Amino acid sequence: MKLICKCGNVEDLNTDKTVENYEIRNCDDGTAALVCKKCNEVVFINLKNSSKF
Ligand SMILES: [Zn+2]
Repeated sequence: MKLICKCGNVEDLNTDKTVENYEIRNCDDGTAALVCKKCNEVVFINLKNSSKF
């Protein structure tokens, strides 16, 4: 699964790799908010649909 921000910041989301370019904030409703460290844009991902994260 790849996370792509508007500013061009791309992060590969793998369980064995630390996310460096985004700050992860878990939400209680099964989604996670990832804040881009370059432009502070917030990208929401659904954890229920991803088995690798
Ligand atoms: Zn960004």
